[in-house]
Amino acid sequence: MKAFFFDMDGVLFDSMLNHAIAWEEAMQRHGLCFSQHECFLNEGRTGMDVIHSFARAQGRNLSEQEVHAIYDEKTIRYRQIGGGVPMKGVADVLQFLQEQGKQIWVVTGGGQLDLYEQLEAAFPGCFCPSRMVTAHNVTHGKPHPEPYLKAWENCGLPKEECCVVENAPLGVRAGHAAGLFTVAVNTGPLEDQLLWNEGANAVFHDMAQLLSWLKKQ
Ligand code: CA
Repeated sequence: MKAFFFDMDGVLFDSMLNHAIAWEEAMQRHGLCFSQHECFLNEGRTGMDVIHSFARAQGRNLSEQEVHAIYDEKTIRYRQIGGGVPMKGVADVLQFLQEQGKQIWVVTGGGQLDLYEQLEAAFPGCFCPSRMVTAHNVTHGKPHPEPYLKAWENCGLPKEECCVVENAPLGVRAGHAAGLFTVAVNTGPLEDQLLWNEGANAVFHDMAQLLSWLKKQ
């Protein structure tokens, strides 16, 4: 493996619980039902995609203005309650991959304008703007394979030399559908089986397990 495509929330950042809390509150304020559990099940999709599909399913036809208002309120609330912190042990994984001369990418459905600054603050020197795929670079977000295919097309390596690192079922589905080796680190409340069901090639429970696996490759 020469390139590693890291998902962001739930992989690089321990942030999913605060995302789930903020999502539930923002959706409820606009009369939409969206539980924290549903947030984990839908993790990986872009925020706009989540709002549109839950509104449609609940018979609501939201204006673009309201969709953006929900997303903005969710983002503000997420930061108010503390946002995310670097995932325990992931800095060691990144350092090991850097020492081995591997390409390190981030492939996220997130669309905040300061994503790179967040990465640079948490993991100095590990990421670069040309090795990022965000909500702004794709037509279809996860679980569509497009985000991971875009990273693969731009990395210049054959598929068998690329590895996706995910935590969520829909993210694993995207990596698998892109035809890439996909490992899952189950950092959230869902059962491992959901990750295996989507085609995970390996499932770990924390970054230390991922690191010892990497050292054996
Ligand atoms: Ca994730």
